[in-house]
Amino acid sequence: MSEYTFQAEVSKLLQLVTHHLYSNKEIFFRELISNASDACDKLRHLLLTNSDLAEKDIKYKITLAVDEDAKTLIIEDNGIGMTRQELIASLGTIAKSGTAQFLQKLTGDTKKDTNLIGQYGIGFYTCFMVASEVEVISLRAGKKEAHKWTSNGIDSFSVERGKLEHHGTKIILYLKEDAQEYLSPLRLKSLVEKYSEHIAFSIVLNNKENEEVLNEELALWLLPKKEITPEQYKSFYQHVSHTYDEPWFTLHTKAEGIIEYAALLFIPSNRPVDLFNAERRNRLKLYIKRVFITDDCENLFPSYLRFVRGIVDTEDLPLNISRETLQFDPRMSKIKSSLTKKVLDSLTKKAKEDSKDYLKFWQNFGAILKEGFYEEFAKEEELLFLVRVKSTLREGYISLEDYVTHMKDDQKEIFYLLGDDLSKMLKSPQLEGFHSHKLNVLLLSDPIDHFWVSQVYSYKDRPFKSVTEEDLNLNTEKSGDSHLKSLIEFLEKHFQGKVKKVRISTRLKESPVCFVSSRQGQNFYLTGFIQEKQNTLTRILEINPNHQLIQNLLSLIETEGTKKSLEEMADLLYDQALILEGLPVTDSQLFAQRLTSLMSSQLNAV
Ligand code: ADP
Repeated sequence: MSEYTFQAEVSKLLQLVTHHLYSNKEIFFRELISNASDACDKLRHLLLTNSDLAEKDIKYKITLAVDEDAKTLIIEDNGIGMTRQELIASLGTIAKSGTAQFLQKLTGDTKKDTNLIGQYGIGFYTCFMVASEVEVISLRAGKKEAHKWTSNGIDSFSVERGKLEHHGTKIILYLKEDAQEYLSPLRLKSLVEKYSEHIAFSIVLNNKENEEVLNEELALWLLPKKEITPEQYKSFYQHVSHTYDEPWFTLHTKAEGIIEYAALLFIPSNRPVDLFNAERRNRLKLYIKRVFITDDCENLFPSYLRFVRGIVDTEDLPLNISRETLQFDPRMSKIKSSLTKKVLDSLTKKAKEDSKDYLKFWQNFGAILKEGFYEEFAKEEELLFLVRVKSTLREGYISLEDYVTHMKDDQKEIFYLLGDDLSKMLKSPQLEGFHSHKLNVLLLSDPIDHFWVSQVYSYKDRPFKSVTEEDLNLNTEKSGDSHLKSLIEFLEKHFQGKVKKVRISTRLKESPVCFVSSRQGQNFYLTGFIQEKQNTLTRILEINPNHQLIQNLLSLIETEGTKKSLEEMADLLYDQALILEGLPVTDSQLFAQRLTSLMSSQLNAV
């Protein structure tokens, strides 16, 4: 017998799971049944693609049994089983990335925390909520030797030779004093009903004399919609997505014709934890003729819809198709485009019919959906319809449709400002003129907005235009400020190499200066630090002709005031424009010195 200690994270997790989630301990049942069902799925798939294994026609099942005297609950499957190494790795470590992140995420709110468990692949450990000791005896299909894993779920486990008549896994739970209810057949039946009804293998309760089948082996997705209750949908959703929240949206659909498939898809009501993983994998499970094939098929569904969970089952592909062939099979592309259309159509319908509820979806998944603008250009129109944004003149989120409908009569463009912090953005000097002209400006503060808005040219023939772009003229009246010519000439000379040019602003009202850009769609904030050099080639300083300070500077030039103080003032103005963009000043010591001397002279004058 060999003794092993748990990986540090596992110990910590065990402690948390056993103490923290205690009020919801029955979830251990769903987790173990789910694992048993996955194990059967895996073996079924293996047999389809691997001819070395002798056994072919297996009647898969999950068996429950209780031993009143020993106070044990036994859950057994005839699935793929685990080798010795697999027992150690799967039940002693957490291979998945983000475990530390998971531990931090636990909130103390049982409902939320339970929801996280399945998503991190740590379901097995929940059995220590009800058991003081757990034995896992497993025989890997195709191997001769079974092994037994034993632990009390505190800090270590042991592994030794074990005995099992056929491949699969047998889990023996020595129930704690306060978990004796799981010895009751009635209790077990109600748990099957609650958590496992839709499991595609039979779940059998093994009494001394007879075997009682507790579930129907449903392929829920193949049933007619009217025969399925909302509870069944919900429970299926929780099974496929490994969560405990409600589905926000359920799409049960069949396609016939060029390609035939049935799909049962869900949009979660909470954000799944893996949404922002770098791999951006879709989460659909592919079945062929009711048999689970893979949950890792890139070609099945777009990444920008990866928040969707569920399954697709098709009759049109051969069961023994290899993973490589799947990736390039044209039938897969057909399923992909058909499913994409259905999901986007459903979202569009929802957005039209229940905008309030749609907004919940948008707040959870809008940032992901926007990736579609560069992942699938062809969907631009649909996606633009689905976008929701904040704006300067309207409360809350609005659609582009809404923006366009409320445009002023002579307004031709859709104005936007990019940034990273709404409260800062609202104070941008570039918005002043828009405020006073009562022109609404979209506030795009999501990092991804920078990419899509420069990609998409227009909505309903109204071009998008950044309020920081150079060629913007808000003044419908005169622009004859030629008297500022001498000031502009002075500033341009003084700022040579720092700005491309200096011009009179029509967008400023209260502030004396701001930066604008000669590059389309440029956002100072995002490019500011990295491309400071390049920015100087595109950066334009705008001055507010109506501001007292600018007027004063002008008269200083006209009366040929001391050149030094003029230059100092100009530099301070320049730094001020930088600060307003959230950028660092060129020389902070010099800036402070100048400010001090300005303040001193003010105070002296008092
Ligand atoms: P998850 O199932 O989400 O990966 P678990 O903690 O529930 O996380 O299980 C960890 C791993 O242990 C599984 O991924 C699987 O490889 C293995 N395992 C658990 N139960 C079984 C079982 N009944 N048969 C075969 N393998 C199992």
